[in-house]
Amino acid sequence: MSMICVPIMVEESQAALLDASLAQAKGADLVEYRVDLLFEERDDESLQDRMDRVLDLVKESPLPCIVTCRPHWEGGDYHGDDDERISLYEALGTSDHPPAYIDVELATYTRSANIRQKVNLAVDHPKQQRKVTTRLILSSHDFEGRPSDLTRKIIAMNDEPACAVVKIAYRARSIRDNLELFEILRDRQKPTIALCMGEFGLMSRVLAPKFGGLLTFATLRSEETTAPGQPTIDELLNLYRFRSITATTKVYGIIGWPVTQSMSPLVHNAGFEKIGWDGVYVPMPIAAEQRDDAGSAASLKATLTQLFDEENNFYFAGASVTIPHKEHTANLDLYALNESCDQVRRIGAANTVSQLWYDHGDPVGLRRDGFYLDNTDASAIAKLLQASLSELEESKIVLLGAGGAAKAAASVSMRFGANVYIANRTESRAQKLIDQLYENSDDGYIGTAHTLPIEQVPTRMADAYINCTPVGMTGGPDPEGLSIPIPDMPPLPPETVFFDTVYNPIETPMLKAAKERGYRTIDGVQMFVKQAEAQFELWTGQAAPDGLFDSLVREKLSETPENQS
Ligand code: NAP
Repeated sequence: MSMICVPIMVEESQAALLDASLAQAKGADLVEYRVDLLFEERDDESLQDRMDRVLDLVKESPLPCIVTCRPHWEGGDYHGDDDERISLYEALGTSDHPPAYIDVELATYTRSANIRQKVNLAVDHPKQQRKVTTRLILSSHDFEGRPSDLTRKIIAMNDEPACAVVKIAYRARSIRDNLELFEILRDRQKPTIALCMGEFGLMSRVLAPKFGGLLTFATLRSEETTAPGQPTIDELLNLYRFRSITATTKVYGIIGWPVTQSMSPLVHNAGFEKIGWDGVYVPMPIAAEQRDDAGSAASLKATLTQLFDEENNFYFAGASVTIPHKEHTANLDLYALNESCDQVRRIGAANTVSQLWYDHGDPVGLRRDGFYLDNTDASAIAKLLQASLSELEESKIVLLGAGGAAKAAASVSMRFGANVYIANRTESRAQKLIDQLYENSDDGYIGTAHTLPIEQVPTRMADAYINCTPVGMTGGPDPEGLSIPIPDMPPLPPETVFFDTVYNPIETPMLKAAKERGYRTIDGVQMFVKQAEAQFELWTGQAAPDGLFDSLVREKLSETPENQS
């Protein structure tokens, strides 16, 4: 079972001990005291005084601990003398209240026979004569990227008889770097900690138990990371359900750039928990310079291929896909085609990748012939429109925007026989979208599509108006903006529907104006929830727990200032 270790940057012992108690209360197995600053030389203090500060801290610790005094040249804050640092380790290991582990950099340990000898006196190893229990973690950190001599380092650590734990940490340049670390964990000869730093590395921290990692680091507070990309202990335990992850756990994720604000991990992990599904859902960021950039499409393809082909029980079972990779995903030629893949090609955007794990409700395991694409944005929009309009066939729909969401909305509305009027800031893009829709409609749409100059939106009478632009979105280009100028429009029948795909804030300026005039509204949370529920069903063969996703998203959004009235 992998442990959770909370790192504590110690400046003052009492505060550190309070944090260690809090870590214990939250469910941590151990803490790492980073004593770089505590052990730093201060005026008029002897080496013994400085060592006593650390020894007292360890003595009082409510949890077993790792003690690390990390030098600045390996990413730490200690600028003092190396011999003194080694003397500290020696004193700790041979004290009456020793730490469970000390962490010494491989580069330090291999620098001289003298250092090795001193460290070896303090730790438990096969030739140890003394009664010591502290175990040695030999570590290597690279904050730039994967070290070119990674294999050599791992061999060197494994070959050191005094090394009880191998620790490798480096900055991931893409989520593919995590996969190599998982291999290192699987091939380990000794207990091993293998973690990727940075936002691409979160997967390695969450999935450590799946591959037998000795521990993962999690912070007490979100702003307190000792290495970039660390989750908080609350996220690890409650969001990712760390304790339930085992070798057989299936891996799902959200692919996009950026994905840090996504609410998909919240809903899918909670859904898995509720139905007892052995799965975990993690962010899978794939960097993109710009939207139509060929490089980001290539990187998406390489990543998906590697996840898909990953052997050794990785069990990549599905992903949500978001901006800017929806179009790239639809154009990939990696997948078995099925009926929904055809629909994806027609829309030109995919938001779901899924691996079939069940057949009529029975789990069948990983089926390499059953890797499918879907666009649940489209099915969500269709369901919501069908529930709000008396008849979708022959209805008139005005759509704002010509991006991925607009494509899904236009395509599905036309399929159900609606006449769609597309207004976009860049009119040529609206025309291009319509051309694509007709081009890909080999089996024919029963509805029609037309461009609409944006200034004619207020005078175009319709049964439904759908905003598929980020206008009105918190943090977007025009958060106060009205995507559809309702105050400039003549009075409409009360059954007219105003649908905003933006979900933060829940009540956008456009929805507020529509509600004030008594029109029907559909908010972006309803769409988000419907598309997520459809994904969940594709992945598990079971309906998403009734109302769970909706309540989680509304509760989460209600914590933000823009949703507090
Ligand atoms: P996209 O592909 O980037 O398209 C954005 C569209 O918005 C483009 O047509 C763009 O016009 C237009 N636009 C951007 N800024 C604008 C501005 N300041 N004024 C007027 N028009 C502007 O994005 P997308 O994937 O379609 O997503 C669009 C919106 O849908 C997002 O805000 C997202 O919140 C929402 N969405 C919601 C869900 C959900 O589950 N609720 C799912 C998917 C999307 P140009 O062509 O002129 O650039």
